[in-house]
Formats: sequence, structure tokens, C-alpha cells
Amino acid sequence: MEKLKYERPVIQKLNSGLSNKFGSATEIEPFTHIDGVPVKKLIETYGSPLFVFSERQIRAKYEEVKTMFTTRYPKVQFGWSYKTNYLNAICNVYHQMGSWAEVVSGFEFEKALKNGVPGNKIIFNGPDKTEADLSLAIEHNSLIHIDHFDELYTIQKLTQTLDKKPKVAIRVNMDTGVYPIWDRFGFNYENGQAWDAVNKIMSSGQMDMVGLHCHIGTFMLTPSAYGVAAAKLANLFMRIKQKFGQVLHYIDVGGGLPSPNNLKGTYLPGADMVPPIEDFAETIATALLNSDIPPNELPLLILESGRLLIDEAGYLLGTVIATKRLSSGRRSTVLDFGLNTLFTSMWYNHKISPAQEVSNFKEDMVLYGPLCMNIDVVRESIILPPLSKGDLVVAHTVGAYNVTQWMQFIAMRPNVVLIDMRGNPHLIRRAETTETLNQMEELPEHLSQFTL
Ligand SMILES: *Cc1c(COP(=O)(O)O)cnc(C)c1O
Repeated sequence: MEKLKYERPVIQKLNSGLSNKFGSATEIEPFTHIDGVPVKKLIETYGSPLFVFSERQIRAKYEEVKTMFTTRYPKVQFGWSYKTNYLNAICNVYHQMGSWAEVVSGFEFEKALKNGVPGNKIIFNGPDKTEADLSLAIEHNSLIHIDHFDELYTIQKLTQTLDKKPKVAIRVNMDTGVYPIWDRFGFNYENGQAWDAVNKIMSSGQMDMVGLHCHIGTFMLTPSAYGVAAAKLANLFMRIKQKFGQVLHYIDVGGGLPSPNNLKGTYLPGADMVPPIEDFAETIATALLNSDIPPNELPLLILESGRLLIDEAGYLLGTVIATKRLSSGRRSTVLDFGLNTLFTSMWYNHKISPAQEVSNFKEDMVLYGPLCMNIDVVRESIILPPLSKGDLVVAHTVGAYNVTQWMQFIAMRPNVVLIDMRGNPHLIRRAETTETLNQMEELPEHLSQFTL
């Protein structure tokens, strides 16, 4: 047998994650590809900044979350929250997977119809439904979630001229143990307003009451709140059954489940802060199953999750415009996207990665956007390797609310790309141009000319 070579033993101090005199160790991995497509190539082809969505990640997340609910409750239906992201391509990914549409305005309603969602699978929420919106919804047998008494009376009035019985549910707000209470939407449970609305609807005989709805908050970190909400809706369900003999089709617990994003003002990163989504599924399912509702009459459980489903599947790619030292000596880096494009940086500390190999040196810096506005800050403080003009960066977990709340202010809205299941990018929304803006404007004749 060959003699083994002697190797000198070494003791090495491991200090990963521990602080030393230079601060805490932060590993910064460059993020160079999305679903196998190089970030650099995406920017070369579609420009910078650029929103990129991963169809693979959207589908995987949906299936994962759906399974959490379907393994705990027999009848589950998701309704895609249009306002979270209403690009048609994105909505249709959800519709292909079986999601209904949840809309909160007339134009979202029309978008859902145009995407091909059957009217009776469109849930119409929101406090601002015009008579025209309501008529359209009634005509299409959509599920109208009544927000206030004024809306209830408007529907009542419309039924006098339309020969269709509107399908309605009421939005219920309540004390779930999380404060402040979201009591501006719908009818309050505790003070009897919700019961009042139920009685008005049931006695009118002109509406078909099909369900109960609540939307108790957003980025909720307390699973038990959903248990309380589901239990209260189950009580209301039983009271309706006892008084009117009517068995409702569904209980809709709304959206608000958190994505693993880094909420400003929280100590831990989102991945550590956010409870497992299974806990939410468990508490909702348990509340319904343990209620007095007989097993053969269990309602369909509807979920209107938005941010939880899409946030992680969205990326914003951008480019460093400039770097400078502030008067305090602090490093600042100016990016080509800011609050205009990444509106959610108002309340999240989005993770930002460099998209190319970086040095081992790191420095605390501030990331500015491109706007000529003092408030345009993407990150007040972030530890990154020094970046130079032309370097690429990727902002993570930006899929929810950005491509709906973005604004055309100083800069135009950029291209949006979807990478399909095979890794092929598709342009799903074109960047705006000066032409896009001018199309909307009219110039009075007397202002058409001037001399300077
Ligand atoms: C905004 C909204 C949702 C989606 O909320 P998320 O926090 O994104 O899950 C669902 N239902 C209603 C009624 C909404 O207004």
C-alpha cells in the first residue's frame, strides 16, 4: 500500500456572519441570470431600466400556495387581484392556472372581460363602482361585493329596470385583533352593520346573495387574524342560514398574505419576519372546518392573494448612472430607476444585487434614483461593493404593485418582459415614448405658436 502523504492539520477560525471591527460580514453574490437568461443580454436587447417577470416562478409559487390550501380545505378558489399587476400576459398566466379575476374598478373589470374571464368568475370589489360598472357586472352575472349602503341602494334601483337578479356578497370588516382595524371597506361586523346589510339584501328579494367577503389588511404578519375573520364570517353564514334558510356558496377571505419582502422599520429581513404561509392556510381552514357549518354545506373558500403570489417573480434591472461622495464623505450611487419606476421602495428595503463580478470591498452607501427630486431614494442605506458608471444592478421582489403604481414623472415607464417556461423572453409591455405622452394632449389653437 502506498504511504499516505502527511498533511499538516490547520485550525481556522470561522467567523461567518459575526461582527468584527469592520462591521458585520455581508456576502454579496452577483446576480447575473434570470431563469438562465443573462441580465446583461436582457438590458442590451430591451434597454434599461427593465422589468422582468419569470413565468416559471409565477407558476411554481401559485402551485405551492394552492397546495397549502387544498390539502387543508376541500374547496378552494383563487381570484387574481388585478390591481397587484394587471398586465394582460401576467393575468393570463393566472387564468391559465385556474384563477378567477378580482377587480376593484370599472376598467379592471373590462380588462378581465377582454382577457376572456367569464363574467360569473369576476369578483367585483372596491368602493367606487359607478352605475354603468354595476349594470355591466349585473349583465355578466359577476360577483358584486357590496362596499356600502349607497352601493346597495344603487343596485336595488338598477334591479327595477334590469331583468337579471344581481349576484351579490357583502364586504365585512371586523376586529381581528390587529390594529388599526381596517374598517373603511364594507360593513362592520361588531356593530351590527353587516347584519343590517344582510337583512336588507335578503328581504329585498331582488338580489341573489351568494357569499361573504373580507379583506382585513395587507402584508399581514399575524395568521390568527385570518382565523378570527374566517370564524366571524362562518357565524354570519350560519345566521343567514338559520334566519333565511339560505346556504351561501362562498366565503372569501381576501388578500393581504405577505411576500418575503423587507418591510421598512422591521429589524429582521422579510424571509425571517414573515410567518410560514402554511400557518395562514391552517388557521383559515381550521376556523371554517371547526365552525357550525355542516360538512355538506361547507362554502367554497376564495382567496384573493396578490403580493404573495407575484412579488418574488418580478425583477427590476437597472444601470448605474453615476457615483459621488456626499459632503459627509458617504458614498452615493445614482441608478436609472427610482420612486417613479419602483414605487414600492417607499415602504420596502428592496434587496439590490450587482449583476456582474464585484470586488470584496464593501461600503455603506445610499442608492438614489434618477429624478430631480430629493425624495427619490431607492435605499437609504445598503452595504454593497463600490459600483461604477455602467454597472448593472437587479432589484428583487418587485413583482407586486410596481407595474400598476409606477408613474410617468420625469422619466417614461420602461419595457416589461416575461421569460417563458423555456427561457424565452417576450416583450409584454412596450416602453412609453414622448409620442405616448403627446398622444394624450390637445393644444388650443391660440397657443400653437410663439416667437422668442
Ligand atoms: C388589494 C386587494 C387584494 C390583494 O391584496 P394583497 O395584499 O396584494 O394580497 C385582494 N382583495 C382586495 C379586495 C384588495 O383590495
